[in-house]
Amino acid sequence: MDQEAIVAEIIDNNPQRRMWQCSACAYESKWKNNLIKHQRTHTGERPFQCPQCHQRFTQFVHLRRHVESHHSGLGEIGSA
Ligand SMILES: [Zn+2]
Ligand SMILES: [Zn+2]
Repeated sequence: MDQEAIVAEIIDNNPQRRMWQCSACAYESKWKNNLIKHQRTHTGERPFQCPQCHQRFTQFVHLRRHVESHHSGLGEIGSA
């Protein structure tokens, strides 16, 4: 669980402007959950796999986009 280790909180005098920044890239978000989701791209967690070529993706939308552009659509992914 080293996920937290690459999360950096940006402290600002104004709490409304407090942000979470990824220490591995320039990504920042107001919501910690978004940052943790984003950091899957760095931690290598890829739960979505293409049934055609077995390429893995961090988010379902990425898999769907891949299938639509590389396999001319499949129509069955995500049903499981
Ligand atoms: Zn990042
Ligand atoms: Zn594929």
